[in-house]
Amino acid sequence: MAVLRRTEGIVLKNFPYGEADLIVTYLTPDYGLRKGFAKSPRKIKSRFGSSLEPLTYARISLRGKEDAALPRITQSDIIRPFQSLREDYACYVRLSGMLELTINFLPEGESNPGAFKLLLDVMRMMERDCSDRNVLVYRIRLLSLAGYSPRLKGCARCGGAGRKFYVSHGSIICEACTGKLNAAERAGVRPLSQGSIKLYETLLTWDLSKVSRVKASPAMVAELSAMLDSHVEYTLSRPLKTSPKNSSPS
Ligand SMILES: [Zn+2]
Repeated sequence: MAVLRRTEGIVLKNFPYGEADLIVTYLTPDYGLRKGFAKSPRKIKSRFGSSLEPLTYARISLRGKEDAALPRITQSDIIRPFQSLREDYACYVRLSGMLELTINFLPEGESNPGAFKLLLDVMRMMERDCSDRNVLVYRIRLLSLAGYSPRLKGCARCGGAGRKFYVSHGSIICEACTGKLNAAERAGVRPLSQGSIKLYETLLTWDLSKVSRVKASPAMVAELSAMLDSHVEYTLSRPLKTSPKNSSPS
């Protein structure tokens, strides 16, 4: 028996399927990551078709068997188009990285209302300020909700204070323990300033509505972003497609 499920979703990704169909990946509050397919939305420039654009927040109906991997999207009404985020290319690139991270770190079909709310809230913040700093806020919090945070509260080996990040441990490492690593292991250690470690904690724990008031120098934002890039790449055993590593030099 096919059932109809109504929920809300933010479009993370869509890709063509067959002649005119589209497979859409959503983040929903009720079912977490969820894919659906839309019949022929590309034939005409319709409201339905535009509601399937990445970053669109919509009320959707999915029809399919209870365990169907790919239910059909029978209805999709835009709640908020987030059009300005798509129209600004540099901003869209930043958002694309956030969406790819989300697809890679949340399990499919597992409800995670916190992750849904986080994405929606940060997209609203990005409408006002589409900055690397807000991307960083999202990445830190999403990894935490998904259970993949780097551990920045003391050396992985002895618990002491440290100012370096050891990528393959996903953790801080202190000076003394770094000294015990061999040359190959030491290549995976990168500096992380005390200020950045403190900033990370603040961006993770402060109320999201107050995070915009936190002072963060571009250097610290860049240092934490690079640390997360290496942490994500190590965790997934590959860089994200949107990672700076994959962008062609201009
Ligand atoms: Zn140590």
